[in-house]
Amino acid sequence: MKTDFNKIKYILYCRKSSEDKERQVLSLGSQVSEMQRLAGNLGLEITKTITESKSAKKPNNRPFFDEMINLIKRYGERQKYGILCWKIDRLSRNPIDSATIQWLLQQGKLQVIQTMERQYLPSDNVLLFSVESGMANQYILDLSKNVKRGNRTKLEQGGWPGLAPIGYLNANCKIIINEEYRHYIKQIFELYVNKRKSFKQIEKIMHENGMRTPGGRKYFSSTYHRIINNPFYCGIMARNGKTYVGNHEPVISKELFDQAQAILHKKQQPKFKKHFFAFRGVMNCSNCGCILTGEKVKKKIKATNTIKIYNYYRCTNGKRQCEAHKKYLKEEKIVEMTAEIFKTLEYDEKLINMVYKFKKTKYKSKNDYLDNAKQSVEKQIILNKQKQDRLLDSYLAGLTPQAIYENKVKDLQNEEVALTAQSGNLSKKTPKGHTALELVKNEFLTANNAGKRFIELEKEDKSKILNKLLWNLKIEDNKIANFSLKEPYSWMQKTPKKGDFTSVSGCWDSNPGSHAPKACALSQLGHTPYCALF
Ligand SMILES: [Zn+2]
Repeated sequence: MKTDFNKIKYILYCRKSSEDKERQVLSLGSQVSEMQRLAGNLGLEITKTITESKSAKKPNNRPFFDEMINLIKRYGERQKYGILCWKIDRLSRNPIDSATIQWLLQQGKLQVIQTMERQYLPSDNVLLFSVESGMANQYILDLSKNVKRGNRTKLEQGGWPGLAPIGYLNANCKIIINEEYRHYIKQIFELYVNKRKSFKQIEKIMHENGMRTPGGRKYFSSTYHRIINNPFYCGIMARNGKTYVGNHEPVISKELFDQAQAILHKKQQPKFKKHFFAFRGVMNCSNCGCILTGEKVKKKIKATNTIKIYNYYRCTNGKRQCEAHKKYLKEEKIVEMTAEIFKTLEYDEKLINMVYKFKKTKYKSKNDYLDNAKQSVEKQIILNKQKQDRLLDSYLAGLTPQAIYENKVKDLQNEEVALTAQSGNLSKKTPKGHTALELVKNEFLTANNAGKRFIELEKEDKSKILNKLLWNLKIEDNKIANFSLKEPYSWMQKTPKKGDFTSVSGCWDSNPGSHAPKACALSQLGHTPYCALF
């Protein structure tokens, strides 16, 4: 017997539950209009339209569905019924309701189920219906796989599939810098790498600097940890263990990010002590020779009724015969006293730069092997990077197959590592020529910096300067009894700080024979007679 579909009364059943998380499911309105269009094309008569916002995962959950089934059960023998629905899973997603529908089909009470994709007829076997229902679910699974595949393609093309990280915005399928946050992100990395701040300290500093969530709330240290760990900020996107080169504008350099990673992962980070004693271990008690140690002392401030913690230093009294250990020396006082010493190292920065430039011009005519070698290696590094860029462009344009791209890129990256190591080795070798000049100039600037800005420096930097410049620091009666400046700073201390260019260049005469032995202390920077440069 041939079914005359034109004589069938169709019930249009549309369903989308609020619990339905599958975004691929059309809205109720769209399901209705799509199916009406289909019915129009096929010349089918819709006698009733049902829309239901309930889940089909459990039976007896849908009053309108049950009403429809009861209608078909009761009148199905007299009247030919058909069901129109967008997809089979709109009708049933549980075995009980599926079985009811199948049974109605097999009895002939239900003549046909028409979906967008196909017809289900009483002659279809039960297995096929189950397979088809199952496939409806498979379709959903496939869709999510397609989404993942789409994401990968997007990543390979330099796009970021998802919400932009802090500091960036999603705009028209692109990721752009959120200008409000640009300097914050830079600051976070600088605090972490250059100032060696802990995440907790960064949290505090950034809050004080005004960094807030878009909702105006505070960011906590875990967020800063995430930022430091995210290569997105230097232009690299990480997803599922793979990295991709992003099209977005980086906020920081790759070098800065790598430094941050080195600190983060290789645990290079110094132990962030709540109380960092900048002067511990550099001072000795002049009475017994023992080292002075740091200690925190709590003091109540009456005016504000708060407790402040001060750093004090005292003799460790290792030999158990010194009375000086009862004397506590306040850290602030040591800073003042050492700053006085460093003031003798103040130079006129203009003068340093002037001498440097003068000597540099003089030196230019001399050929320097190491400088040339280093320049050549650096040139090769630049060329290598350009090659990598071109290769990536060609790969992204579809001109280079993936396998070849991966092979070549690996070769180039290996070469880059080797070249970088070579360049590092060359820098470590006895500096000559410009490099040496640069080094000497930097020593002068360090000394100058200590002289001019010691008090303003961070504790960690104070400690570095102290260890670099001073030794034999003896404390007696809470005063500096004795100290020595390390070379070459002791020599610098004795050279004229001001005056005209001639007097200074006279002191740094290029004739080695005219040098006082102390002047040659600069030579201890390397094995080159530096005095010959000046
Ligand atoms: Zn002592």
